[in-house]
Amino acid sequence: MSIVTQPFEYFVVLDFEATCDRGKAPGPQEIIEYPSVLLSGETFDVINEFRSFVRPLHNPRLTPFCLELTGITQQQVDQARLFPDVLADHLAWLRGNNLRVTSQGSGANFAFISCGDWDLLKMFPSQCRACLPPVGDIPHAFSRWVNIKKHFAAWRGVTKVPGMAGMLRKLGLELTGRHHSGIDDCRNIAKIARYLAKNGVTLTATSEQSSGADG
Ligand code: AMP
Ligand code: MG
Ligand code: MG
Repeated sequence: MSIVTQPFEYFVVLDFEATCDRGKAPGPQEIIEYPSVLLSGETFDVINEFRSFVRPLHNPRLTPFCLELTGITQQQVDQARLFPDVLADHLAWLRGNNLRVTSQGSGANFAFISCGDWDLLKMFPSQCRACLPPVGDIPHAFSRWVNIKKHFAAWRGVTKVPGMAGMLRKLGLELTGRHHSGIDDCRNIAKIARYLAKNGVTLTATSEQSSGADG
C-alpha cells in the first residue's frame, strides 16, 4: 500500500521510442515503439501492460544508430501498423482496463507518468501532426501528466535531475531489461514511481496543457 492517498486511482507509465540518429533526429521524428504499464494508484502493483511497435510513415528505414540505441529491429517496425491504428488500440486498451478516457479532464481516474516532459509535450503532439491526415480529437488524458523527474527532484531537494538510469541508481534500484527499450523503460520508471509513492510522495500532475495535439 502507498502510505499516502494518491490523486489518481490508476497511473499509466508511458515511454515512447522514436526515429533518431547520432546528433540530429530525422524530420519529422516519428514514434516507433508505443508502450504502457498500468499501475494501481493504491498498491503500485502492475495491473497490465501494452506494447506495440509503430511503422514510421516519413522515414521508414531506421538508422544503424536507432537500431542500436533502442534494440528495435527493422522487421518489427516494417510489420507494425501506422500510428493512428496503434493509438486506437491503445485507447481501446485503456478503456478495456476501466480507465475513463474522456475529451475533458473531469471524470478521468488516471494520469500518465513519464520520465521528463518530452513524451507528451513534444513527441505525441508532433506525431499527431505528422500523420496523413493529422490526428485530431485527442482525449484530455494526453494533455496532463506526471513527470516523475520533477517529483524525484522535489523529494531529494536537488535541482539537477538525473535521467532514468541515474534515478534508479540513487534509489538503489536495479535497471532491469534494456535501457531505451520502451517497455523496459516503462517498467523501470514504474519502479521509481512505486518507490516515491511508498516513501510518501503524492504524485500530482506536473503539467496540464490547455488542449491536445493542436495546442
Ligand atoms: P528514451 O526514452 O530515453 O529511450 O528516449 C526516447 C527517444 O529519444 C529515443 O527513442 C530516441 O529517439 C531519442 N534518444 C534518446 N537518447 C538519445 C541519444 N543519446 N541520441 C539520440 N537520440 C536519443
Ligand atoms: Mg523516455
Ligand atoms: Mg525509452
